Amino acid sequence: MGLTKGELGDYFLSLGEKEYRATQIIKWVHQKGVSDISKMTDLSLELRERLVKECEVRVPEVIYQADSMDGTRKWVISVGEGDLIEMVLIPEGKRATLCVSSQVGCAIDCSFCATGKQGFSRNLSLDEIIGQLWIAENSFDKSKDIYKRNISNVVMMGMGEPLHNFEPVVKAMGLMLDSNAYGLSKRRVTLSTSGLVPQIKELSKHSDVSLTISLHAPNDELRNELVPVNKKYPIKELLKSVRFYVDKCNDSRVTTFEYILIDRVNDSLKLARELADLLLDFPCKINLIPFNPFSESSYKRPSNNRVKRFQEFLQSKGYVVTIRSTRGDDIMAACGQLVGKVNDKTRRKERNKKKELIQVKSI
Ligand code: SAH
Ligand code: SF4
Repeated sequence: MGLTKGELGDYFLSLGEKEYRATQIIKWVHQKGVSDISKMTDLSLELRERLVKECEVRVPEVIYQADSMDGTRKWVISVGEGDLIEMVLIPEGKRATLCVSSQVGCAIDCSFCATGKQGFSRNLSLDEIIGQLWIAENSFDKSKDIYKRNISNVVMMGMGEPLHNFEPVVKAMGLMLDSNAYGLSKRRVTLSTSGLVPQIKELSKHSDVSLTISLHAPNDELRNELVPVNKKYPIKELLKSVRFYVDKCNDSRVTTFEYILIDRVNDSLKLARELADLLLDFPCKINLIPFNPFSESSYKRPSNNRVKRFQEFLQSKGYVVTIRSTRGDDIMAACGQLVGKVNDKTRRKERNKKKELIQVKSI
């Protein structure tokens, strides 16, 4: 699971085998979902016996699965040492979108995000990232057609900041697009980022998947508060890097800007106007995400009227604006609710608790 086609090719060359064996293995594992090497019948018996001794196809361990009333499904996966990650499958008519995690926890610590509040443990490896797609794809019945693809879209929007885990994420997205593996179109694989400027520029050298930017505020003062990494990479720099990425894509690419709406924090008409001015001339869509509450947060979701008002203002300025419907909140699978279990190496939870204690004392 943890090897790209190139790396598998090198492995076979080192065995004195032909490089194209790598493509055969990729097809068995990722296209047909076969993890038992002895069943890979286009390899000679001798080679299969050798591979069985030397290798294994290790699939991540699912420890819990929950189905929402609305068809959304959440898996909890153990990645060792008590760390748990979550992934979510969202069926929508003919589409099925898988929301994939890239890290155990997240170091960015956005003020509105449950994953961020959990602190950070570690990056996921390639096998742990692509293994999520493997598990979800093979949870469907394939007895009639082993080649049938059930998952049409992948969004790197689960736990973690994907661009903080650059190499494994880029390699995993490579397998997602590879026609011998999952064969997804580059427009249907989306990387969502809080806005790491150097990594966005670097990504353009390796990939041309769809990019989504978690903007959430139209000015630096407010964004510094909501998305702390903005202090390092302010909005102007961020937009420049996104333009650079889009220009390199060589097609008429539209960037999606995500804007979480938090009651009385960033949902005023004044800010909608600022946002409209900021993104003028930028080929983009705006996706509004009404805040999903969780217990450690005192933020509130705005009323539907306030959400509509924000949307209609932007639409009146000519923007395409969608409102993300909340899916799977009955099983805590909605945006920002993925927490897994994080051995917090940053000790953020502890520090936050101390802060609260000091506040209580001072009251
Ligand atoms: N780290 C990346 C990808 C994971 S977060 C990023 O920030 O883009 C995926 C999306 O969920 C982001 O747009 C994020 O802003 C949103 N999100 C986080 N917490 C949320 C909450 N409590 N309610 C609604 N959306 C939330
Ligand atoms: Fe990390 Fe994204 Fe959550 Fe921010 S919103 S803390 S970047 S996972």
